[in-house]
Amino acid sequence: MFGWTVFFLNLDLTKSKAIPEQYDEALALNFLGGRGFAAKILWDRIKQGTDPLSTENKIVFAAGPLTAIGLPNSGKLVVASKSPLTGGYGDGNIGSWAAVHLRKAGYDALIVEGKAEKPTYVHIKDKTVEFLDASDLWGLSSIEAEAQLRKTHGRLAGIVSIGQGGENQVKFATVVSQEGRSGGRPGMGAVMGSKKLKAIVIEGRTPIPLADPDGMKKLAAEGYGEVLSKPLYAFWKRQGTMSTVEWSQENSALPTRNYKEAVFEKAEDIGGFAMEKIKVSNRGCPQCNMTCGNVVKDSEGNNSELDYENVTMLGSNIGLGNLAQIASLNRLADEFGLDSISLGNVIGFALEASEKGLIKEKIGWADFEKIKQLINDVANRRGLGAVLAEGVRAAAKTVGNDSSDWAMHVKGLEVSAYDCHLAPGMALAYGTNSIGAHHKDAWVITWEIKVGRASYDPIKVDNLIETQLIRGGLFEALTVCRFPYNSLGFELEWYQRYLKAATGKDFSMEQLNLISERILTLIRAFWVREYGKNWGRILDVPPVRWFNEPLTEGASKGSKLDLGKYNSMLDAYYAKKGWDQMGVPKQSTMKRLGLSQEARQIEEYHNSS
Ligand code: SF4
Repeated sequence: MFGWTVFFLNLDLTKSKAIPEQYDEALALNFLGGRGFAAKILWDRIKQGTDPLSTENKIVFAAGPLTAIGLPNSGKLVVASKSPLTGGYGDGNIGSWAAVHLRKAGYDALIVEGKAEKPTYVHIKDKTVEFLDASDLWGLSSIEAEAQLRKTHGRLAGIVSIGQGGENQVKFATVVSQEGRSGGRPGMGAVMGSKKLKAIVIEGRTPIPLADPDGMKKLAAEGYGEVLSKPLYAFWKRQGTMSTVEWSQENSALPTRNYKEAVFEKAEDIGGFAMEKIKVSNRGCPQCNMTCGNVVKDSEGNNSELDYENVTMLGSNIGLGNLAQIASLNRLADEFGLDSISLGNVIGFALEASEKGLIKEKIGWADFEKIKQLINDVANRRGLGAVLAEGVRAAAKTVGNDSSDWAMHVKGLEVSAYDCHLAPGMALAYGTNSIGAHHKDAWVITWEIKVGRASYDPIKVDNLIETQLIRGGLFEALTVCRFPYNSLGFELEWYQRYLKAATGKDFSMEQLNLISERILTLIRAFWVREYGKNWGRILDVPPVRWFNEPLTEGASKGSKLDLGKYNSMLDAYYAKKGWDQMGVPKQSTMKRLGLSQEARQIEEYHNSS
C-alpha cells in the first residue's frame, strides 16, 4: 500500500514493551489517519467507564497520510485520549518534527498504555525502542526538558513532552513541542503525566513509499508556490492570527472579563499592529512556509510565541492590556504545559469570583503579579490553583452560588476566544464541537457576521455542518493545517491531488466527506457511550451567561442569545446529521456510515430512532 506505513507501534509502559502492529488496509481507507485513527483506536480499545487517569486509559499519537512527504503545512500529529477534563473524547493537534519522524520510523500512530514505575521517556530510533529513565527530567518545564533531550539525542530529533502541569495532572495540561507548539487541550498532558511519561523522542529515516514519488516532488513545489502566491500571504506572515484581535473588537466578539463583555478598552494595545512593534521573528510547524508563530520578548526578556487565542484569553479575558505581560503569562503556560485558552478561562472565572466575594482570595482584573502566582499555583495544585486545575466546570461546583451560569465551557471544555452573545451560529459550533467548546472544527463566526449575525437561519446549520466536515474531519484526519484553506483561500482540490500522488487512489470530495462524517459520528458515539445515562442535549448548549446576561457595552449592547431559537437550530442540526432529538446518532445513520458494530453499543441510548 502506498502513502500509509500500515503499522502502529504499541507502547506498554507497565511492561516496558514495544509491539509493532500491522493494521488492516480498510482502516486507512475508512478513517484516513490522525483523528480518524485515534477515534477508532480509542473506541475499540478503551472500555466504557475507564478512568482517564488510570493505567487502562490509552493515549494515541497519530499522523496522517500526507505527513513526512514534504508537503506544505503537513508537519502535524493528533494526540488523543479519553479526556480527564471532560470525560469524553479529547484530542488536539501539534505541529512537531515528532510527526515527521514518527512516519519515517515506519509508523502511522503510537498507542501508549499502562503506567511506568518511575518517570520515563521513550526513545524511538527507526525500529529500535528504548524506555529510558526520566527522573532527571521530572520537575522540569517542557522547554527545559526538550532542551536536555536535544543535548542527548541531537537537535534534529522530534520531541513531544509535558511540563509540571502534566506531571501534576492538571486537567487541561497539554503536550508541548518546540517551545510553544502545544496541543491536546482536554488534558492530554495530564494523561501522559498519569502514566509517568515525560517525553517521547523519535528519530526516523525511512522515506514513505509513495505511488508517484516524482509527481509528488513537483506537486509539493507547486503547493508551496501556490501558498506563497495568495494575496493575503504577506500580511499573514506579518501577523498570523493576531489581526483577529482588531477584527473581534470591531465586531463585538472579543472575550472580555470572563466573557461578560465583547469589547475591550485596551484592544489596540494587544492587537496585531501592537504585536508587530515588539515582534522579533516568526516560528512555525515543520514543512510550513506560513510560519504563523509571532515570537516576541516578554516582560521578563524571554521569547514567547503569540497568537490570537493566547493573547485574548490571557489578555482581554482577564482584563490585561499589556502585551509584554501577556507574553510572560503565555510563556509560563508553555513552560508548565498548560493550555493557554483554558488557563485564561479559569483565571477569568476566578477573578470574577473574587470580585463577587465568592472566594477568599483577593485578585483584581489585570493584577499581573498575583495572576502569575496563580498560574504557578495551578501548575503545582496549590490553594485556589488546585481548584482551578480541575477545570472551570468543576471549579464552579466548588465555588457554588450561581457560578455555574458564568463558568464558560461546553461539556467541561473551556470556551475558546470568541464571544457569542450575538453569534448563534458560532455558539452552535461550540455546542456541537467534537471535544467541547473549541473553535478548531468550525470557525464560522466571520462568515456568520457577513450573512447576518443575529439570525438563526437554517443556512447557518448547513454551513456549520459543511465546515465541521472539512476542518474537523478531513484536515484533522490528514493532520494538515487548516490555515492555508481558511485564511489564504488555498483550494480543497489540492488535498485530493496530494492524496492521489501519495496513495495512488482517487478520492472524490463525496468520499472524503463521508469519511469525515464517519469520524465525527464515531466521536459523538464515544461521548454517548461514556456519558451513558447522563447524556442529554443540554450538553450541546453553550453557557447560560450568553443567554441570560446581555452585553452592556459596545455596538452590540443589549445582545444575548435566545434559548428557544438556539434549540430550534440544534433540532435542525441533529436532523441533518441523522441524529435523534437527544443528539445520539441513529442506528440507520451509523449503519450508512459503516459503523454497524459500533451502533449496537449505543443502541440503548436512543429515544427516537
Ligand atoms: S500556518 Fe501556523 S499552525 Fe499552520 S502549519 Fe504553519 S506554523 Fe503551523
